[in-house]
Amino acid sequence: MRKVWVWALVLGPLLLALAQALSTERMRADLEALLAQGPRVAGSEAAAAARAYLVQELRRAGYTVELHPFTYSRTRDQGSSLRVGGATFPVMGVAGSPAGRVEGPLVVVPGAGLAADFAGLDLRGAVAVVRRGGIPGLEKARLAAERGAVGLVLLTEEPSGTRFTFGGSSPIPGVTLGQAEGARLLEAGARAVLEVRFLSEEVQGRNVIARRGDAPPLVLVGAHYDSVPGSPGANDNASGTVTVLELARVLASHPIAERTWFVFFDGEEDGLWGSRRFVEEYPGLVQGLRAMLNLDMVGVDVNGRLGIGGSPELRALADCEAVAVLCGGAPGGGSDHVPFAQAGVPVLFFFRGLDPNYHRPTDTYADPALMAQTAQVVRGILERLLR
Ligand SMILES: [Zn+2]
Repeated sequence: MRKVWVWALVLGPLLLALAQALSTERMRADLEALLAQGPRVAGSEAAAAARAYLVQELRRAGYTVELHPFTYSRTRDQGSSLRVGGATFPVMGVAGSPAGRVEGPLVVVPGAGLAADFAGLDLRGAVAVVRRGGIPGLEKARLAAERGAVGLVLLTEEPSGTRFTFGGSSPIPGVTLGQAEGARLLEAGARAVLEVRFLSEEVQGRNVIARRGDAPPLVLVGAHYDSVPGSPGANDNASGTVTVLELARVLASHPIAERTWFVFFDGEEDGLWGSRRFVEEYPGLVQGLRAMLNLDMVGVDVNGRLGIGGSPELRALADCEAVAVLCGGAPGGGSDHVPFAQAGVPVLFFFRGLDPNYHRPTDTYADPALMAQTAQVVRGILERLLR
């Protein structure tokens, strides 16, 4: 009896240590399993298959897994257009924009299109043209509408046809256009006819929640597992999904897992539906959170380091001196941490930058070594948070 006990003492921690090692091999297999389904568009069979895989792997790791269902209506672009002079530009309606046809003179918002750049502008009856970035597109739409604009064209660094969402309801029709084509707008003429054409459909989304024990969570670690139509979504966001899954595995028998929920959000690409509904439907739980950590696009090294954005008091828990991380390197961003931040929860956002394959059919690769490095950083923060 005693001998067995001694062996358990020796072997127990050893086995635990083995079980706790992050495995890039496992992460590679997870990535393959998710990508094999095709684009994981919310409500699709591919999303259901990806979800079944997550549920199976989380249960195997010892978690209680629950699905959090929610519905929302989604708009699909059905041929939005922007005509200036005799030319037609390849625009795409931004999710969250109202449908409709508007007409007016083109007015370019100067500079980077920050709040200050709108000051003093008269946009009455105009179709405003503004660069994307710096502040959320929805804020630009509101600023433009406040000054009388009837429509908005967001010029993006990404090529025309890239899908974007306002992450909320825009007061005026809004479209995106690649900067390359955007540069030719004013040459084409002074007056624009902008039409946003959307088809509406009901979507059933499901968040996947994994937890140990019954105590309410102090921390929530999340990543969205859905992707946009036409894109395999390897970096966006199988990378974050797999990283959170592997973290859940290696922490399964650690005390951290008793106070942490791992949540895989659905419907992010259509406007942060999964995280918004979670915040709405679990208000008490959300108020009790010490932190929400969100991982989105952590498998491609765009900026040379892992960007960490969010609440300064939480950023202080990250090892900001480490060469691999760039604290403050993930500004704002429209991902699932936003609804939590708006509810007053301290958040951290882990992000390696927008890669050239973002929302494209070529988003087929994420690097397990970078994902493992991300998991390591998140794990360190969890240890300090829950010490
Ligand atoms: Zn994403």
